[in-house]
Amino acid sequence: MCLSLGCSSPHNPLNCIVPPHMLRVMALRGDDKTARMARSLLKQNAALRDERAEHVSPPPPAQDGGTFAPHAVSPAEGLCCPDRRIHDGDGKAALPGRLVRAEGDDATGDADVDLAYDGAGQVFSLFADEYGRNSLDGAGMPLIATVRHRRNYNNAFWNGDQMAYGTGDGEVFRTFLELSVIGHEMAHGVIQHSGGLIYENQSGALNESIADVFGALSLQRSLGQQIHDADWLVGRGILGPGINGVALRSMKAPGTAYADDLLGQDPQPWHMDHFVTTTEDNGGVHINSGIPNHAFYLFCNYIGGKSWELPGQVWYRALQQLNNPMASFQQWADQTMDAVTAIAGRGTIEAVLLRRAWKLVGIAI
Ligand SMILES: [Zn+2]
Repeated sequence: MCLSLGCSSPHNPLNCIVPPHMLRVMALRGDDKTARMARSLLKQNAALRDERAEHVSPPPPAQDGGTFAPHAVSPAEGLCCPDRRIHDGDGKAALPGRLVRAEGDDATGDADVDLAYDGAGQVFSLFADEYGRNSLDGAGMPLIATVRHRRNYNNAFWNGDQMAYGTGDGEVFRTFLELSVIGHEMAHGVIQHSGGLIYENQSGALNESIADVFGALSLQRSLGQQIHDADWLVGRGILGPGINGVALRSMKAPGTAYADDLLGQDPQPWHMDHFVTTTEDNGGVHINSGIPNHAFYLFCNYIGGKSWELPGQVWYRALQQLNNPMASFQQWADQTMDAVTAIAGRGTIEAVLLRRAWKLVGIAI
């Protein structure tokens, strides 16, 4: 659900890291080789969407009057270990490919394999140790990933069951094995198993934004970074050497991650006044996600400290309590206010600062 309208069924999303607007610009502006690559990615992803539709997970059961039971916000007892299974796609399209490193195996010395393994462990640890969640589904599901998916593949995705990472072609993208990208893709799995957010319009942009949030938190936590020391970039360093840009997206300054002859200009707004109404990209799910991304960044910036602590707890709790797959930005903002009230208390400085963060992006709660 990521690269073209053709691969965009809101109920069966294929969550790719590279948004379709980037590929469309490449198809228009690139030289023959690049334009061919972009067109072929758009086509491949239509086919992947169809595969995805065949094994989409059923919605989680509603409990007690239709409310999803939240996971504990404090670390749960007995959570321990991920079950990682990293495969080598050997440049082919078949998934998952050849198992090359299972849980507990020593490092292989193959950088891609070891980055996928270590990254999956970091993301597992964020959700388990900070939010008490046992893997993406809350029930210990294995973390299946494929590296070297297809040849020179310029994308990474979560297909509902597993992560897959291309190597990039070395020109437009140099890699996808970067922790904020890994965290983003795995967070799509968490969202899917937390009641889901339909992948179109505002609920789709929330899906994208929440994936960016937990991607950023995975990276910051692994670095032990304070909020004010973090760069708040998603996909830093993955763009190719000739591309004028620092990352795929910036939560601190949406719309500034890249400005390049080939890729165009980062189209993300940070305020509701600049909300983009479009039929492309499932209603701009990778574009308007800049608005809730920036609200999260502002909240963190006001609070200080570590993003994965109180701010991450608030966003995680809101996701567990939301119970509304078609949520609007306004409804999500209200849910985060309920969450901060439950965690920090009514009328606390944290609640005041959260309200201020949303107000600054044009959403009153
Ligand atoms: Zn995504």
